[in-house]
Amino acid sequence: MRPLPLDQGAPLAAHERYPGSRLELVCGSCTWSRTYRPARIVERLQARRLGDRQTAIAAIAHLVQWPCPGCRRMRWGSRLVAP
Ligand SMILES: [Zn+2]
Repeated sequence: MRPLPLDQGAPLAAHERYPGSRLELVCGSCTWSRTYRPARIVERLQARRLGDRQTAIAAIAHLVQWPCPGCRRMRWGSRLVAP
């Protein structure tokens, strides 16, 4: 999986243009990361009334409420990656 060339404000909806793309949550302090299905992230944002498919990909990192399983810090980044 490679990061897609999207600008900082690109919305989650951008995933629809890249088949198989995933939302990657990356720890800024260690190497821990995990990917998620973008459509599932959109569903969860809508269910919690926190956003929708127009929410910026980079903003997802700020909604993460738990510390990194690798280093226990909260220094999240989020980006769209594709095969
Ligand atoms: Zn970490």
